[in-house]
Amino acid sequence: MGHEGVGIVEEVGSAVNNFKVGDRVLISCITSCGKCENCKKSLYAHCEDGGWILGHLIDGTQAEYVRIPHADNSLYHIPEGVDEEALVMLSDILPTGFEIGVLAGQVKPGDTVAIVGAGPVGLASLLTAQFYSPAEIIMIDLDDNRLDIAKKFGATQLVNSSDGKAVEKVMALTDNKGADVVMEAVGIPPTFLLCQEIVKAGGHIANIGVHGKSVELHIDKLWIRNITLTTGLVSTSSTPMLLKTVKSGKLKPEQLITHRFSFDDILKAYDVFGNAARDRALKVIISNE
Ligand code: ZN
Repeated sequence: MGHEGVGIVEEVGSAVNNFKVGDRVLISCITSCGKCENCKKSLYAHCEDGGWILGHLIDGTQAEYVRIPHADNSLYHIPEGVDEEALVMLSDILPTGFEIGVLAGQVKPGDTVAIVGAGPVGLASLLTAQFYSPAEIIMIDLDDNRLDIAKKFGATQLVNSSDGKAVEKVMALTDNKGADVVMEAVGIPPTFLLCQEIVKAGGHIANIGVHGKSVELHIDKLWIRNITLTTGLVSTSSTPMLLKTVKSGKLKPEQLITHRFSFDDILKAYDVFGNAARDRALKVIISNE
């Protein structure tokens, strides 16, 4: 299990050129050969000999040792002086929030952005949306604790949707026009429906959520509104750029870490993450040291 992490290279395969034993590395959640047709388009998510395989089709990172196929293209050197723990947030959630939420949603200066879901990925979208100076970022969630965190991370408006009135509240905040960019960071039918109701004419719905059920698309209402709907699995092609923003201090991903456990206490870590609202958990670090 697991597709996030940082580590130290213990052994190097004969095909690896860019890494040597002892190197400190960031592990990308996406494995990519760098050579196939999709990799040549930076669509690493759909690498013909990789993609999301770590902790999914092969053994993952929640272990003492992990084998990384195509290491040259799937690992990144950790820059000097950067908080290694913080970089775990760059394995998946920050590139996901940025590529599938912010880039696919085409956030622009002055935009009103609405993010549905203030979990780790929604918060990663909130942090990286600010690269583009949107005028307003409306955060929507059921949990006041997560909304408080969103406020600290830069949200300008908070909407608690537990009363079922999120649509009215967002419309009241946007002169009844809706948001230029709406990001779905939950992955269930009600939140996807909400996105369709609060997107502005000409706006974007960027679906980030991992859906397990089909949803209704209200094309009868949306066809006339010139909207764009995007979906996707992260490619982590933005990781080198995000590493620079962490190194410079522009992006501070360590804010997302709420709990730390040793490898021996991994079951406690699962309990905390499984009761995220109760334990006010965002991201949990498990370390081998
Ligand atoms: Zn490939």
